[in-house]
Amino acid sequence: MVREFSLRFWGVRGSTPTPGQETLRYGGETTSLEIRAGDKLILIDCGSGARRLGRDLIERGERDIDLFFTHTHLDHICGLPFFQPAYDADFAVRCWAGHFAESHCLMDVVRRIMSPPIFPVAADTLKGVTFETYAAGTRWALGDVEIETTRLNHPGGACGYRFTFEGRSIAVITDHEHGNPQLDTAVEAFVKGVDVMVYDAMYSDEEYPKYVGWGHSTWQEALRLAQRAYVLMPVLFHHDPGRSDDALDEIGELIAKKHAGACVAVQGMKIEL
Ligand SMILES: [Zn+2]
Ligand SMILES: [Zn+2]
Repeated sequence: MVREFSLRFWGVRGSTPTPGQETLRYGGETTSLEIRAGDKLILIDCGSGARRLGRDLIERGERDIDLFFTHTHLDHICGLPFFQPAYDADFAVRCWAGHFAESHCLMDVVRRIMSPPIFPVAADTLKGVTFETYAAGTRWALGDVEIETTRLNHPGGACGYRFTFEGRSIAVITDHEHGNPQLDTAVEAFVKGVDVMVYDAMYSDEEYPKYVGWGHSTWQEALRLAQRAYVLMPVLFHHDPGRSDDALDEIGELIAKKHAGACVAVQGMKIEL
């Protein structure tokens, strides 16, 4: 019997939550992904979308969770103080991050955002959470799930992930700016042949010159990389806060003509592999 391997999007927006009429269809929550691989539950990032995800996990009775951070910019961690399972000692939420230079660790970052006067509830109330810091490039196995990590090109660092389960694979490449030859080569090798590649498509090629060095890529680059690396399904992700539903529709139509299988991430979307 083939066991479930699926990816669900609880938040697809970059930089800041964007509630409003123009973002109703694609969603305004920031990055939060759920991967189900057999009996393992894996989350990527804890942006604002994680608030709703946390409630859903409680309802479903999911208590054993591995949460992998791409990095610790606010849009990727702002949901942690509102992620209910984190406060409950009956849950095991193992948080992982691999983007740090040696002097930082994940627990320090969470302590900083969860302390007065930034936030009234202290980090030591997170009774369900443990923190692990590793070095980007590390690979290991979580039960039957193979986990690979790679360094991305982003201010302060970020970490890409590739999860392989019973011959199927998902890569998550956000936040990442193309254009560093050494890292471009490494990222291409990292995603080679992957089934689903979630990719930072914050800008278009036309917009990009204004944002060089900001740490993000373009939807055209997502397709070029997908072509070079034989990626089946590139999924555009980390939408710019200013990108309306109509604008994302237009991009969706363009990419469908260029790469069968390519799509734009929508909050609530579930991909079954
Ligand atoms: Zn981001
Ligand atoms: Zn970032």
